[in-house]
Amino acid sequence: MAHTKTKLIIIGSGPAGYTAAIYAARANMKPILLTGMEPGGQLTTTTDVENYPGFETVIQGPWLMDQMRAQAEHVGTDIRFEMVKEVHFENRPFHLTTEDGNTYEADAIIISTGAQAKWLGLESEQRFRGFGVSGCATCDGFFFKNVPVAVIGGGNTAVEEALYLTKFASEVNLIHRRDKLRAEAVLQKRLLAHPKIKIHWNRQLKEVYGSSNPLAVKGIVLSSTNGADDIDIPVEGVFVAIGHKPATEVFRGQVQTDEEGYILVEKGTTKTNVDGVFAAGDVQDKVYRQAVTAAGQGCMAALEALKYLDER
Ligand code: NDP
Repeated sequence: MAHTKTKLIIIGSGPAGYTAAIYAARANMKPILLTGMEPGGQLTTTTDVENYPGFETVIQGPWLMDQMRAQAEHVGTDIRFEMVKEVHFENRPFHLTTEDGNTYEADAIIISTGAQAKWLGLESEQRFRGFGVSGCATCDGFFFKNVPVAVIGGGNTAVEEALYLTKFASEVNLIHRRDKLRAEAVLQKRLLAHPKIKIHWNRQLKEVYGSSNPLAVKGIVLSSTNGADDIDIPVEGVFVAIGHKPATEVFRGQVQTDEEGYILVEKGTTKTNVDGVFAAGDVQDKVYRQAVTAAGQGCMAALEALKYLDER
């Protein structure tokens, strides 16, 4: 078990964390990046990425994250495969303990632990994940041109995704387990008025089915939440939009979050309520959730951490 003192620790290894590391390392801050359990984050569980600027053709999510890791390392980041178990932000320097029992002291911290899409937990949903079942319409909607799709959920994300998908799909089926949406009134109004959107009230996704070679979705079976018979609808894409969970458990009580656990930052910055602790990416952003916006926030966090350390 080792004890390490350093200027800056970055927690999390998605686009936000690696971008923060690249900027911090190039500014001579000698950052240590603790990767967490899933190095590379959410993009390592996707396949085609077509909206990350700089690449003419489709690239693969895991490959992109590998490039970011290599770039961060190349410019001097000390990357360690460690999981943070406990943090103390009450005193300075800040204190961290990892699952391996190692301890760290740092003058500044960037939290970029991301979030995870919630899944329904159906076997068939997981089987077709990446092959017709997706957790992000902005990322994958483009691949469903002129075919019917379904969106599961009744919150802002589900409604925004359904509206977004109307640009590509021939028909968008919104499946909601109740007879009332949770989404904001203005979004509901747009949804209800859209000719391509069909809402299935009081319905739950029961099964996704399709072909196995190649793996492709052909349709879904919906059960009823008020006693009606199951129905079957043909779709080629299923977008699960039942919420996200930010990875902030370990920071509870140490930094301010909203009621869903997202870290609160000062508007237009990555500053948390603790001076010297910054948050970037999906851990603080429940609206955009894109690799490129997370990377942008990672850059902001590194520049703000640099300014903070310089001023001390
Ligand atoms: P929400 O938690 O708001 O909504 C989740 C939806 O999924 C609910 O309608 C819920 O149903 C449904 N759901 C949850 N679990 C299941 C399940 N097991 N089976 C079937 N349905 C399920 O999540 P969102 O991602 O929509 O939004 C998260 C936060 O981000 C919110 O605060 C939202 O306002 C915000 N947001 C803001 C945006 C913006 O400002 N433009 C854009 C996107 C999100 P039920 O209603 O029955 O509980």
